Amino acid sequence: MAESDYAGLIVDIPDYPEPGVIFKDITPLMADPKGFAAAIDDLADHFKDAGITKVVGAEARGFLVGAPVAYRLGAGFVPARKPGKLPRDVYSQSYSLEYGTDELQIHKDALSADDKVLIIDDLVATGGTAVATAKLVEQAGAEVMGFGFILELCYLDPRKEIGAAYDQDVFTLI
Ligand code: 5GP
Repeated sequence: MAESDYAGLIVDIPDYPEPGVIFKDITPLMADPKGFAAAIDDLADHFKDAGITKVVGAEARGFLVGAPVAYRLGAGFVPARKPGKLPRDVYSQSYSLEYGTDELQIHKDALSADDKVLIIDDLVATGGTAVATAKLVEQAGAEVMGFGFILELCYLDPRKEIGAAYDQDVFTLI
């Protein structure tokens, strides 16, 4: 699907969740059968020869995109969750937000040393969530193979943040 067709299925919400922020609402794309299928297929196709064994997606919208990409690649899916949600032993990674910090966790036994991991989210803004997710993968001893997103906020230059830590492929649809 062309970038402009994807972009037509994303709705800008001014001043949400706070004044001055334009929130990119991906729910119309998710609700569109052709758009949703094309987005999942395009992300999966890009990484189909990368030997991906697991996809990791961050709570919550990373689940919506990451799980079907994993299915399409014949890979497993691992959720990176907010603290206190996973019932067994976890690796944790804190990361900075504009105000304060946040934290993501994965189960310690969710990944192993021979896993080749693709990190998927709906949107990359600063890149902080993606880098924190990649660090969880490294804590587990697995290999980060690449990053895929439906939407990239280029004006925040997330490739600089991700590229400072990882030289792996970053692929975005919009
Ligand atoms: P980052 O850590 O790259 O600054 O922010 C990306 C994370 O925040 C992603 O998990 C994404 O779901 C969420 N996010 C930030 N801004 C937006 C937005 O405008 N729209 C959507 N759908 N998610 C956003």
